[in-house]
Amino acid sequence: MILLKGAEVSAKIKEQVQTELAQMEANAPGTAAPKLAIVRVGERPDDLSYERGATKKMESFGLRVQSYVYPADISDADFKRAFAAVNSDPDVTGILLLRPLPKQICEKDVEQMISPEKDLDGIGPANIAKVFAGDETGFAPCTAEAVIEVLKANEIPISGKRVTIVGRSMVVGKPLSMLMLKENATVTICHTRTADLKGTCRQAEILVAAAGRAKMLNADYVGNDAVVIDVGINVDENGKLCGDVELESVQELASMATPVPGGVGAVTTAVLAKHLMRAARQSR
Ligand code: NAP
Repeated sequence: MILLKGAEVSAKIKEQVQTELAQMEANAPGTAAPKLAIVRVGERPDDLSYERGATKKMESFGLRVQSYVYPADISDADFKRAFAAVNSDPDVTGILLLRPLPKQICEKDVEQMISPEKDLDGIGPANIAKVFAGDETGFAPCTAEAVIEVLKANEIPISGKRVTIVGRSMVVGKPLSMLMLKENATVTICHTRTADLKGTCRQAEILVAAAGRAKMLNADYVGNDAVVIDVGINVDENGKLCGDVELESVQELASMATPVPGGVGAVTTAVLAKHLMRAARQSR
């Protein structure tokens, strides 16, 4: 089984971003690099870890990044006022809103507020609609797009393939199914009510795990020569980071698979950088 390493895919995206940055600088010398605003409420460890990873990635790509941090008990009105200011700041090229937001803030309202042209993670209705319409001018959620990037960077054909996605969230499963469809895959989406999950997964030529269940997909779920993409980020019984796939048990079956950590996660932040460049291009 070949391990599909996220770092290699991220390095390819870095090259594209840096070439484009150099062109931008050549066309308009002295212009500041595009800036990502990371908006965080509270101190959730998941958010902090994502923020650290995204900040490191932006800086290593030569992009600017600034975190806007608010207390966990901020009121709905105060947060919306602060968010509106970030959203309308001309120096902010794109926004990453760390979610879920605390309960007192109406997340739906914030999704409606974000400017479509700064909505790098595709959370607002305009971008969701574009992804579902197959319109490439929209921003797809970075994780969903990262799965496509991993396949393309490794020259794994998608067109005509049986793709099964375990998970139907708005962050991963649903938008990814649309991106796969756009690539002409034959897509099956599984969830907790899927009757024969093992059998359905075994039929897949490309199996994407996005259930958020530690090591749930073992050899019973993987067909011969399948390509397995693991989106899951979980903590196992020993407190170690792990995916949704039990990698050791599928080694003899899968032809290729992404590890966790070191797989899709590393590509997600690279896609964020790519989206930031696109937002900059479209706004200049
Ligand atoms: P989510 O909102 O909890 O959705 C999980 C989906 O998986 C749901 O549709 C659920 O089905 C389905 N599911 C859960 N358990 C299942 C089971 N036993 N059998 C079949 N289907 C099952 O999670 P998410 O936000 O999509 O995230 C999924 C995973 O990806 C998490 O581990 C998350 O940490 C990770 N993630 C990674 C990245 C990255 O950059 N790599 C980014 C975002 C998320 P129902 O709809 O029927 O409940």
